[in-house]
Amino acid sequence: MRVHWEALTNQQRAPADEGFAYFCAPRAKIVFAIQLYLHNHYMRHCDSAGALLTWIFDSLMASEQTHPHIAAGDHEAYMEYALEQARHSPPAPTKFCVGAVLVDADKNEILSTGWSLELPDNNPADPGKTHAEQCCFIKVAQKYNLPEERLCEVLPQNTILYTTMEPCNKRLSGNKPCVDRILALKDCIKTVYIGIKEPENFIDQNVLIVGRQRLQDAGVEVVFIQGMEDRIMKVSLAGH
Ligand SMILES: [Zn+2]
Repeated sequence: MRVHWEALTNQQRAPADEGFAYFCAPRAKIVFAIQLYLHNHYMRHCDSAGALLTWIFDSLMASEQTHPHIAAGDHEAYMEYALEQARHSPPAPTKFCVGAVLVDADKNEILSTGWSLELPDNNPADPGKTHAEQCCFIKVAQKYNLPEERLCEVLPQNTILYTTMEPCNKRLSGNKPCVDRILALKDCIKTVYIGIKEPENFIDQNVLIVGRQRLQDAGVEVVFIQGMEDRIMKVSLAGH
């Protein structure tokens, strides 16, 4: 990818005094100008053309992440979008496929999305498989370079969390449950909309009830969306 002036043909070389003709340059000159620009600005970070293309692709993907427009207060539609996230989660008998969406309720703006195992589990400070709600939080934390528990410094005061399955209150791995993660953000996450209760496949129902109660006791409103249970359960149990 490195461009050497000596290697260029006479046609590609563009003398500075060529004037107007230079701006009417053939395609080779334009390509050269782009190559030179990329070389000067970005190649210092990329050791190969492949790495450069990957960088460009990743940049475009990051800047073009779009969400559907959902009418303000259409909680069923937001839950549908959370279910869409859940479908990305790889099916497995040892987990549920859950999706989550974080929304600024005042501006009706989607802030983050997540699904089970979306992000790697290689954070030594927070080990274990990543849950959907957790992935929502990690993405915002990475964006603002903040620890997860300080996200209320950047999240709106009226943030809603939609999750297809109720946030976990206990993890067999011993890692931090999502209820604890939400409680740490209770000053900005005021409401959690839930698609279904957690099935008792892994955790006793009594523990799950306590999880819901802990949220409500802390002032976090817990609302169950009605009418999508069968479809959400089917996605949740993919791989079981
Ligand atoms: Zn969880």
